[in-house]
Amino acid sequence: MPVEGVTTEIHTVARKHPVAVPVKSANTLLSGIGTTIFTVMSALAVEHDAINLGQGFPDTEGPADVVQAAADALKDGRNQYPPMPGLPELRQAVAAANYRFYGLQVDWAREVVVTSGATEAITACLMAVVNPGDEVVLIEPLYDTYVPVVRLLGAVPRFVRLQPPDWSLPRAALADAFGPATKAILLNSPMNPCGKVFTEEELGFIAELVLRHDAYAICDEVYEHLTFDGARHVPLMTLPGMRERTMRIGSAGKTFSLTGWKIGYVTAPAAIATNVAKAHQNLTFTTAPNLQRAVAVGLAKDDAYFASLSGALQAKRDRLAAGLASLGLTILPTKGSYFISADFRPLGFNGDDVAFCRHITERAKVTAIPVSAFYDAPNAPSHYARFAFCKLDQVLDEAVSRLRKHFGAGPAA
Ligand code: PMP
Ligand code: GLN
Repeated sequence: MPVEGVTTEIHTVARKHPVAVPVKSANTLLSGIGTTIFTVMSALAVEHDAINLGQGFPDTEGPADVVQAAADALKDGRNQYPPMPGLPELRQAVAAANYRFYGLQVDWAREVVVTSGATEAITACLMAVVNPGDEVVLIEPLYDTYVPVVRLLGAVPRFVRLQPPDWSLPRAALADAFGPATKAILLNSPMNPCGKVFTEEELGFIAELVLRHDAYAICDEVYEHLTFDGARHVPLMTLPGMRERTMRIGSAGKTFSLTGWKIGYVTAPAAIATNVAKAHQNLTFTTAPNLQRAVAVGLAKDDAYFASLSGALQAKRDRLAAGLASLGLTILPTKGSYFISADFRPLGFNGDDVAFCRHITERAKVTAIPVSAFYDAPNAPSHYARFAFCKLDQVLDEAVSRLRKHFGAGPAA
């Protein structure tokens, strides 16, 4: 059936004679957003042969036994659609991990949904509870999919901004962001890009607001096992009253240093998990079964694995922080995640964070991410760059040495 303004005939003509034809505008929200900063900066890093401390991915393989389990699973007949909410063995493993690490009792069959990465999980959780016109409380700086998805669902973001340099939570502003239209808060802890791990006291304050406004909490906890200096990740879901209204999201990409695998998992009360599964059903339907099988093996690894993961990353954080500090950058505290944020003004660079990250990519051959990319509302701070430290020691050292060579040679720009 011909669609107004877009017929086969017009397409045929347009291919032969590329002239402007009347085509209705595409989705304006998507047309209005750019390509994600991670893709942009990774492409720039490749173009300039720069060390990529921008996009957060480790430059080593994940655990060999987990990778082997995925390879084995390809050969044992696991190549057709798995069950829609996820392989039972992975959902059981997620439930067991919830209990092992946080004492959460979870019914694997009704309260766990496997998704294609935490990215899908975030969208599925928002879809599960949000109606058009609802408000969703978001905390800046924030991960780049949150705002577009909230808006695509017809919901309204209500922003609260953490205050650097210690990324403190402005409690009065947070309380003001909640109101009668609030449907949910989307909370990321440990937090990308600033490495904040919300304290139990801050979580208590948030939980009180969620309860008072009868809202849901969507908790992006992809860095749950990447915490430093003894900082303990506490899922909001474990706080009194939160179990019935929280969706908790994990990612195998971060927990097993296998970011390309895109296996996420949501833990939620059964009534909400049903809707998360329906969202998943309409987004991707299922997720690669061999990788699900392997992640189940990974989640059963002993405590030493999880301790060594955070221990090794903490040493890398310290290594890169010391290197950047020795150049004069001011390092902001990082208690979790893959990232350090640093104030580059002491280097005397004349420009904002976007210019700085482009400059060091092109001239020093080291790539970072401008922290202003993690803001939607205007007047974002523009003097911080985010550096990923989930890299080999020699790569971190080489990055610092390149920056030293560049900035040591005289004023930048
Ligand atoms: N949330 C945050 C805060 C992240 O940093 C990432 C990293 N990619 C994701 C979600 C997405 O995780 P995944 O790769 O599992 O989709
Ligand atoms: N989470 C990663 C980061 O913050 C990248 C994810 C992505 O490229 N979409 O760097």
